[in-house]
Amino acid sequence: MSDAANSAPPAPNVDPTALQEIAPGVHVITDHRVPLVPNIGIILGTDAALVVDTGMGPANGQKVLDCAKRLAGDRPLILTLTHFHPEHGFGAQVFKGAARIHYNRTQRDELAAKGEGYLGMFKTFGPGVAAALEGTKLVEPDDVYEGASATIDLGGRTVELRTWGLAHTAGDQVVWLPQERILFTGDLAEERIFPIFPWFPPNDADIDGARWAQVLGELIAWNPAIVVPGHGDLGGAEILKAVRDYMVDLGRRVAAERKSGKDADTVVASLGPKIRAEHPDWAAPEWIDFAIRYYSTLS
Ligand SMILES: [Zn+2]
Repeated sequence: MSDAANSAPPAPNVDPTALQEIAPGVHVITDHRVPLVPNIGIILGTDAALVVDTGMGPANGQKVLDCAKRLAGDRPLILTLTHFHPEHGFGAQVFKGAARIHYNRTQRDELAAKGEGYLGMFKTFGPGVAAALEGTKLVEPDDVYEGASATIDLGGRTVELRTWGLAHTAGDQVVWLPQERILFTGDLAEERIFPIFPWFPPNDADIDGARWAQVLGELIAWNPAIVVPGHGDLGGAEILKAVRDYMVDLGRRVAAERKSGKDADTVVASLGPKIRAEHPDWAAPEWIDFAIRYYSTLS
């Protein structure tokens, strides 16, 4: 892989030709490892189809909607999100009226509270991101579920939505196909990409690393056959273990350094390069420092 630091980032465009059928009727538009493109699910039942995440901005959302309509034919569409972050959910507007939009309560509230702020922040991430977000409007869901879980019957296929409270975001949600043992994780797990710690105080400091690691432990215990991470290549439970182990190890090492009297800046300077060197094949090393700064607040 080329050194991303030496070239402009590719535009965050969903590529519908990257469609894979990972099990009969379970499709993923894979991210091609393009930054700020998520893995997107299109899950078919006999009576309805469920779309998981939209890509960033209305043009990407439209590509996903067109792809879903092509696969689903006459079946009604449902849209759900793994979490509110822009590259996962800020294409939802084109689904309004074309699909039932279905979120958990916390995710809906978090989008309402932080969505406009994230839109402004992401527009500063360079011309490619700003162009993708052009014309983005945040929309309300049609249906909201309370509590930790909801079940959707697509006809011959059951899909479970599960949420745990604050982890990567306040309203993270996984999508689980219990019959096929397929798990869509959103950014609770990425594959060979440093975990995104959205630690942007004072605007957003809503992360719980301990619960995040605990949730990953629970997901490992589900023994998924296929894990579709928020970003990166598809695989199995080893994806979840790698993220969980990274987080637990980093949390411990930051705590140890802090105990020896170092401030957060010093820990970033001393530990950051080591962490980078230990994962030479992981992308997005910029997230290491965010993680260290988050863990530094705990000790
Ligand atoms: Zn995210």
